[in-house]
Amino acid sequence: MVERQLAARGIRDARVLDAMRKVPREAFVAPGSEEFAYEDGPLPIGHGQTISQPYIVALMIEAVEVRPGERVLEVGTGSGYAAAILAEIAGAVHSIERHAPLAGTARERLAAAGYGSVEVHVGDGTLGWAEAAPYDAILVAAGGPLVPEALKAQLAPGGRLVIPVGDVAAAEGQSLLKITRTGDDRWEQERIAGVRFVPLIGAQGWAEDGSRAA
Ligand code: SAM
Repeated sequence: MVERQLAARGIRDARVLDAMRKVPREAFVAPGSEEFAYEDGPLPIGHGQTISQPYIVALMIEAVEVRPGERVLEVGTGSGYAAAILAEIAGAVHSIERHAPLAGTARERLAAAGYGSVEVHVGDGTLGWAEAAPYDAILVAAGGPLVPEALKAQLAPGGRLVIPVGDVAAAEGQSLLKITRTGDDRWEQERIAGVRFVPLIGAQGWAEDGSRAA
């Protein structure tokens, strides 16, 4: 997976490649899906949600430039797989999931795989997790209509936020954006790639019915 799906497609960060070699993806897929764990795509994990494609996980974590010892927040724990990769690199990670049953399963899987340093919270990640802010790196694993102001505000100086933005049903689709905090009231934005993610649902995301909440 690492050589064919990641390195061959341009993922260069050695920390990301090493972490993806170490974390067993089969420990995070739904029971019965283990044989597909290293295939090049997302897989269902229940509640209409997915464990993301390995290449997209690598692309996002490379883009967010996470370093050992940094403060990290993930929004959209899902299976816990990306949180485990982040924990391999950074050490400790806060991750928020809106579906309590998914959060519970992810917590169990992370502990069983040796990633007890990931704290999984249940809640609306569009509001971030103020208790542990500010963060050097924030990764959002679901696509919102815009960049949530709460997440921008929880970035430390020099902090990076990587998030898919846009309407997956629209012709232009979603863009993976990287926002860097360059000053107290200054953020710079760049587009990394076109992507396709499940919706980010919450106060600063989409409403449950697909309309714009924020
Ligand atoms: N990172 C995950 C992994 O490695 O398996 C994949 C995440 S999946 C593509 C997106 C997740 O975001 C879903 O589990 C969904 O329930 C969650 N989600 C959507 N909106 C959310 C919100 N406002 N706060 C927290 N989680 C949210």
